[in-house]
Amino acid sequence: MKIAIISAHSCPVGDLGTRDTGGMSVYIRELARELGKKGHAIDIFTRIHDPADPRMENLSQNVRLIHLKAGREAKIQKMDVYFSLPEFTFNLENFWKENNLKYDIVFSHYWMSALVGKYLWETHRIPYITMFHTLGAVKNAIGIGEGEPELRLASERETIQDCRRIIVATEQEKEDLVRYYDASAGKIGVVPCGVNMELFKPVDKAEARQKLGLTDEKILLFVGRIDPLKGIDNLIKTLPLLKNEGKFKLVVVGGDENSREELEGLKKLAADVDVMNSVDFRGLVKQEQLPYFYSAADVCVVPSYYESFGLVPLESLACGTPVVATDVGDLKHIIKSGETGCIVSDNSPEKLAEAVTSVMQFSPDIESRLAIRSSVSRWAWSNIAKQVAAEMQTALEQQLAAVA
Ligand code: UDP
Repeated sequence: MKIAIISAHSCPVGDLGTRDTGGMSVYIRELARELGKKGHAIDIFTRIHDPADPRMENLSQNVRLIHLKAGREAKIQKMDVYFSLPEFTFNLENFWKENNLKYDIVFSHYWMSALVGKYLWETHRIPYITMFHTLGAVKNAIGIGEGEPELRLASERETIQDCRRIIVATEQEKEDLVRYYDASAGKIGVVPCGVNMELFKPVDKAEARQKLGLTDEKILLFVGRIDPLKGIDNLIKTLPLLKNEGKFKLVVVGGDENSREELEGLKKLAADVDVMNSVDFRGLVKQEQLPYFYSAADVCVVPSYYESFGLVPLESLACGTPVVATDVGDLKHIIKSGETGCIVSDNSPEKLAEAVTSVMQFSPDIESRLAIRSSVSRWAWSNIAKQVAAEMQTALEQQLAAVA
């Protein structure tokens, strides 16, 4: 298949862990790589967010990344990306024409790019499938962080009805689509997200700690964007409840200049609950370095209020490190409570402390770490890409049936 992936607001090679760049960028990059390996031709379209962005680059076998001008050539606020969508679409059209490009299918990511997919369907009759990654109505129902505007909800409603097929990562998201948006269940395919098993591998714990300048404390690890929905405040409030557990440290990975306000708030909270010396904010870390962090940790904690899927827990488990997480995304199917970590019913500091204490009592040897790792091998991206390709085929068959 010739596949156009549209990700207007988030670049697949952008800095992971910044405010608006995380799991979705990883998803697009990894999925495209696997689809490319399988012989499909993939062009990924995103906006220029830095004047140094090359107009076109080869990312991997059969995968090209194309940057299009849309608004200022800088990182801009998400809603400003929305207002630059007409320019993005205009430049996309021109690029297709200039290069005589034709595609079998469009795969749009996030609500804004779904609107581009809708336009391409209306003008070129190329069927589009969509992955929303997060849903405005669900975020609003949770009520943590900034509310999502009606504009987003209306766009989601429109494209959910209009697109050929929707891919979601969990059964929960499928239910949410039906419940909040009246989506037809028959057009929704559930395909989980994946993990790069070649990158995320266990590293010797002592070596990893030495590399990161960490000593022999018990280490709790958080990895992710610094976003109120991630519940990092509750994780910090968990620390005083662990006081009897000996020396410990919470390492927080993620966040840059644009998350400064949130990071300052978390630092203040750590000072208020008297654990400032036990929290180590590391800022952004390149994904290639993350196996050291996961391997150095005794437990990775995911205290989120909401995850559409949650890649971080998969990455930690692939490195052989247990995970304590709230019951969000697909985590109850990924983490085997009592074996590879623990699922907590909510992210209250008390529940998190209890779970972290119990998981930290068990210090896995290399054999147990390899067993933790193999518990997630079926989420390898090559398996996931096969399922996504099958969803695309279904969409194309449905399209043929619709015009017949
Ligand atoms: N990540 C990273 N460096 C950081 C912080 C995060 O590489 O400093 C990556 C992490 O490895 C994961 C992704 O960002 O692949 C976050 O994905 P997740 O699904 O956990 O969260 P989301 O960003 O989708 O909310």
